[in-house]
Amino acid sequence: MLPEDKATLFLVATPIGNLSEISERALNVLKEVDVVACEDTRNSQKLLSHFDIHTKTISYHNFNERESSKGIISLLSEGKNVALISDAGYPLISDPGYLLVNEAVDNGFDVVTVSGPNAALNALVASGLAANHYLFYGFLNSKESQARKELQELRLFPYTMIFYEAPHRIEKTLKLALEVLGDRKACLARELTKLHEQYYRGRLSELCMLHDLKGEMVLLIEGCQEKEIPAEEELLDLIEGSVQDGNRVKDAVNEIAKKYGVSKNNLYNAYLKRKEG
Ligand code: SAM
Repeated sequence: MLPEDKATLFLVATPIGNLSEISERALNVLKEVDVVACEDTRNSQKLLSHFDIHTKTISYHNFNERESSKGIISLLSEGKNVALISDAGYPLISDPGYLLVNEAVDNGFDVVTVSGPNAALNALVASGLAANHYLFYGFLNSKESQARKELQELRLFPYTMIFYEAPHRIEKTLKLALEVLGDRKACLARELTKLHEQYYRGRLSELCMLHDLKGEMVLLIEGCQEKEIPAEEELLDLIEGSVQDGNRVKDAVNEIAKKYGVSKNNLYNAYLKRKEG
C-alpha cells in the first residue's frame, strides 16, 4: 500500500464533523504509516481510537512547528513514513503544516495528499454563489482595524470570497463586511456535515439580523459586480467634491483611484481634461 523505496509525508484530510466522511484510503494510510503527526494529539486520539488505529502519534502545532518540523524531517530521513493531520479538514488550510511541507519538499521527500472534506469547499458548492472562480481567504485579522483594511483591499475582487470565522466574532464581521463591501449576496454555512448543518443565504444586511450564532461557520460573500465601480464621470465628481472640501487634487485623485482600483494617471489626466474644457 505505501511506497517502499522512499519515505513519504502524507497530508491526510480528516472529517469536519461527520466521521463517516473519512476515506478508506485515509484509514489505511493512518494505520500503515510509522507516525501520525497531529495538531492536537488528544483530539486526534479520539478519531484514531474510533477507527481502531493504534499508530504512534506526535504533536505538531503552531507553537512547536519549527522544532517539530525538524523532528519529522529526521524521521523521514530514517525512512519512516509520516502522516500529518489537523483537528479537522485539511492540514495547512487555516491550520499548521506549511513549514513542514516546505522543508519536506526542499529535502526531496515525497509529499502526497489523501483527500477528504474541507469546510471552505463544502460551503462554496452549496452556497448558491458563483463557484467558477473564488478566493479562499481564511480568517480575517482579529483586530477590527486590520480586518477593515483587509476587506477594503478585497473590495474590487470580482469573485466569491470565502472566510472562516469564530462564532463570537461573526456578528461584528458581518457588520464590518456590510459597511466595507456594501449589501452583497452572501451565505453563512454552519455546522457543515453535522446534524444541525444550516445555510443562511441572503444579503449581508439580512445576515446581520441573525443573533446568537453558534457552532463552526464559513462566511461567503459575492465578488464585486461591475456595476459597483462608478463610471468615470462619477469618479471625477468625487474628486471635485474632495477638492472643494480642501484636499489637494493629487491627494484626492490618489485616494479615489486607490478606493476604486483604477489607474491614478488616467484619472488625473481625465480630471485635467475636464477642468480644461
Ligand atoms: N482545516 C480546516 C479545513 O480544511 O476546513 C479548517 C480549520 S480552521 C482552524 C477552523 C475553521 O474552519 C472554523 O472556525 C470554521 O470557520 C471552519 N469550519 C471547520 N469545520 C466546520 C464545519 N463543520 N462547519 C462550518 N465551518 C467549519
